Amino acid sequence: MAIKKPTGTKDLLFGEAQSWRDFQNLAFEHFAKFGYIECYLPTFEQTELFVRGMGVTTDVVNKEMFHVLSSQNLRTAMEAGSLDALKVKNRLSLRPEGTAGVVRCVIENNLVLQGAAPVKLAYAGSMFRAERPQSGRFREFYQLGVECIGSDSVFMEAECIIMLAQFLEDFGIKPEITCILINSIGCEKCRDVYRKKLVVFLKSQESKFCEECYRRAETNPLRVFDCKKLRCVAVMKDAPTIDQYICEDCRKKFEQLKKLLKLGAVQYVEAPHLVRGLDYYTANVFEVQVDSESTGLGAQNAIGGGGAYAHLVKDLGGSDLPGFGFALGYERCVLALGEVKVHATDASTEKYYVACVDENLREHAFEYALKLRTEGKIVEIDSQGRSLKSQFKQADKFGANFVVILGPEELADGQCRLHNMQTHEETLISL
Ligand code: AMP
Repeated sequence: MAIKKPTGTKDLLFGEAQSWRDFQNLAFEHFAKFGYIECYLPTFEQTELFVRGMGVTTDVVNKEMFHVLSSQNLRTAMEAGSLDALKVKNRLSLRPEGTAGVVRCVIENNLVLQGAAPVKLAYAGSMFRAERPQSGRFREFYQLGVECIGSDSVFMEAECIIMLAQFLEDFGIKPEITCILINSIGCEKCRDVYRKKLVVFLKSQESKFCEECYRRAETNPLRVFDCKKLRCVAVMKDAPTIDQYICEDCRKKFEQLKKLLKLGAVQYVEAPHLVRGLDYYTANVFEVQVDSESTGLGAQNAIGGGGAYAHLVKDLGGSDLPGFGFALGYERCVLALGEVKVHATDASTEKYYVACVDENLREHAFEYALKLRTEGKIVEIDSQGRSLKSQFKQADKFGANFVVILGPEELADGQCRLHNMQTHEETLISL
């Protein structure tokens, strides 16, 4: 009998193969305009990385991981009757998502130096989850994503979401069928208070939940929001939401995110029930959903999502560095598109750094950088509140051809200075 492909996998052939390559090229070229550089990381990592990264109580870690065993390790585990008999470095799993691997790579290669700019990495490749296959849900699926590590600036977060929204439109997913949901799930301080309130609510309703959510109410109460079963969704409609409990800091960050998304012309919907499925997220999170009916995606209508993670780098053994990122599922994007499209891409090589003379002009720098990127330029801005001199140093490291300098007087006349990094000539140009 002929051998068939494993359940939940697929062959990408002809137009589909080209479309996956275009999807990556289009994304990497677009993300490069925001300073993201591509990386290719192992498809399997130490199991411990995912357990510590995503949290032992998440479904992905608990039920959906594929483990990787060499013949020798398989024998050792079978003789002992447990995978725990293996040395930690021999306990390996296929990656179910990309963030933990990127963080591991950043720590291992010491990519973020003290006081330096955040590192911005983009990845694409197969992810593996032992889920029950259905439309838009596979066991091996393709994701692309980015991680910005080393900055907790909301400017970086907003930039990331704007970049994604623009990419989806460029890829051909109509904004009319797309909805960007945003929420703040609070930090460790405010989430604890909220979690207690939620547990009281869940206990009062426990007879109404599915068996799994009954268990989740004990182990990881926020995850009950992720359940797609109608009976659980109905009960959770009345659950307390975190927006009533977030602290002042988290509220400010959330308000600023909304303001910046508006500047970037990104339409969003506030979704207080949005918690995301993995444990490492803190504060601002988001998800991109598409219309479930017209795309035929049903309950699997989330095409991508992400958020901030304040402690993941530290939890995985690195220094105390915050991060922000997202992952996008290729198959669901194609389903949202309604057809396989082949795109022609156009590479740009001009690099710009938008510097500002003082902190008050940061929003202008952010907005101007967005404008330049829509013109196809590769643009970076400062996210660490640096002096003008340090911004120039950063621009040099970034390999900028030009630095755009925004100063209050020039701005008042609708102008800025353009500094040529090769000739060091400066000219006044209109914004
Ligand atoms: P997550 O890491 O769960 O936030 O997933 C990010 C994106 O990856 C989702 O929005 C989907 O587009 C995609 N994705 C996640 N799991 C699967 C799966 N089993 N099959 C296909 N796509 C998936």
